[in-house]
Formats: sequence, structure tokens, C-alpha cells
Amino acid sequence: MAKITVKIDSSACIAAAACLDSAPKFFRLDEDSVANVVDSEGDGGFEKELDVTPDELKAIEEAVQGCPSSAISIVR
Ligand code: SF4
Repeated sequence: MAKITVKIDSSACIAAAACLDSAPKFFRLDEDSVANVVDSEGDGGFEKELDVTPDELKAIEEAVQGCPSSAISIVR
């Protein structure tokens, strides 16, 4: 498991939802159609610390690369 922090730049997110396709466990759109990071408790926010497996990290990295507005970042 790796501890990472995932952040969403809410002003950059254009609700393209590509992140939901790549890593549906960790991203969802909030009521304003802005992506939220979802933690292990199911709570969403623009910045969350996550404990992830290598496969989950890969899925989140795919979400970072697939976001058309570069709104997602990972801090290790
Ligand atoms: S892929 Fe990027 S722009 Fe699309 S919902 Fe996710 S964070 Fe927002």
C-alpha cells in the first residue's frame, strides 16, 4: 500500500468525467458537477489522503493523464 494525496483543482475541472472511467472508486462528481476525490470512508472532497494498492495507484495515474484539463494531481 502507498499513501498518496490526490487533489482536484475545482476551477479547472470541466466535468468531462474521464477520471470516473479510469478510477470510479476514487472519483465522483458532486452536486455542482465538479470532480471529488473519494476516500475509504466514502467522503468526497477536493483533497484526500488515500492508502492505495499498486493497481489502484495505476488507475489514479491514468485518471491524472486522462483528465483533459489537467485538474488532478498526486502528491506522494
Ligand atoms: S477528468 Fe478532469 S475535468 Fe473531467 S471530471 Fe475528472 S477532474 Fe474534472
